[in-house]
Amino acid sequence: MSVHDTFTQYVMPTYGRFPLVPEKAEGSWLWDDQGNKYLDFCTGIAVCSIGHCHPRLVTAIQQQASKLMHCSNLYEIPQQAELAKTIVENFVKIPGKVFFSNSGAEANEGLIKLARKFGNSKPSTDGTPRPEVITFRNSFHGRTMATLTATGQDAIQKGFAPILPGINYAIYNDLDSVKAQITDKTAAILLEPIQGEGGIFSATAEFLNGLAALCKDHDLLLMLDEVQAGFGRLGHDMAWRAIAPDVQPDAISWAKGMGGGFPVGAFWVSDRAISDGVTLSSQLGPRTHGSTYGGNPLACAASLAVLAEIKEAKLNDNVIAREQQIRATLAEWNHPAIKELRGKGLMLGFALEPSAIKTAEGVTPALALVLKLTEKGMLTVPAGAETLRWLPALNVSQQEVEHALALLKEALDELAA
Ligand SMILES: *Cc1c(COP(=O)(O)O)cnc(C)c1O
Repeated sequence: MSVHDTFTQYVMPTYGRFPLVPEKAEGSWLWDDQGNKYLDFCTGIAVCSIGHCHPRLVTAIQQQASKLMHCSNLYEIPQQAELAKTIVENFVKIPGKVFFSNSGAEANEGLIKLARKFGNSKPSTDGTPRPEVITFRNSFHGRTMATLTATGQDAIQKGFAPILPGINYAIYNDLDSVKAQITDKTAAILLEPIQGEGGIFSATAEFLNGLAALCKDHDLLLMLDEVQAGFGRLGHDMAWRAIAPDVQPDAISWAKGMGGGFPVGAFWVSDRAISDGVTLSSQLGPRTHGSTYGGNPLACAASLAVLAEIKEAKLNDNVIAREQQIRATLAEWNHPAIKELRGKGLMLGFALEPSAIKTAEGVTPALALVLKLTEKGMLTVPAGAETLRWLPALNVSQQEVEHALALLKEALDELAA
């Protein structure tokens, strides 16, 4: 039975899959079972942040796996303590505490629970709790019931009613639309610094600064979903600092790139006081939240290796240099099929001109280009119908980016309508 036939018979059809069977990978390159080699600018959707099978990550996992993989959060796991300290001291650089999960959706579930708890601890003036959270149209926060509700996309919520009560949607980069949603029941605002799945749309600095001011005025939590954009992806340790460095968030979620391919997620909560002697990070106390796997020794050892590599190899600098390389080349091309390049760092979206791309019936311009690039030996991802997304490894080389750009040009020329 072929892999394809086995898939069709036994695996749930939740994904539209490309007919490619991956076998092995190294750095920015991936091989399929036919021996074809691909330049990987998908990286498992922004997960393999230090490249595939980086020796530092492989060694960390092997060593920890042979020593202790899992115990329980009933004990003081030293790798978890070390990882939390690294995240707070070297990356967030604002006093706070970390909770570890296994995925981005779980991390965001934690943020939504934090908002509810905060809204109970600090009710509205008439004493009723403030259970509501504002999220944004076109956002993506995950697939669990709470996070698909936070995700402001009808297509993702369709068929799953009743969704979680208490989530209200505003329009991204539109401060007035946020003001219109604030009531005496609102406790928090949750957003991505760059909307990833929604098509690579960046928040403006004015918008993030404006949200921070609104949160201060109305005693709301400012919660950032950096699941895709965090830990170096934007050429900055923290995604929001690449956009509006003066903002002081109350809570941040991560997953994807922080494990480099090992499943791990986390959220950080500020130590700031929310009332006399009570800190925000103490809101989720004993018996309020938990995870069996979250923060186990193996996951934390993997993430520690990834974060150490991001720092020591100065990957932020490479991310910024490669973005500049890509932008300079695009400016030279002035290609009729590319309307603009959105995003920041190595989270980039090529906005395509649909009339300049030949597509088969029922295929979006972004998908047509992804398929053409796959044929040419390069893996990429669509973001919506008309945006091609590049999410290469943070240590992708200048030559690899040059090669990627050459393939993109060829593909666009061959698809020219
Ligand atoms: C991928 C993603 C999630 C969900 O993460 P999972 O690990 O798939 O649960 C949440 N938020 C953003 C911004 C993402 O890109």
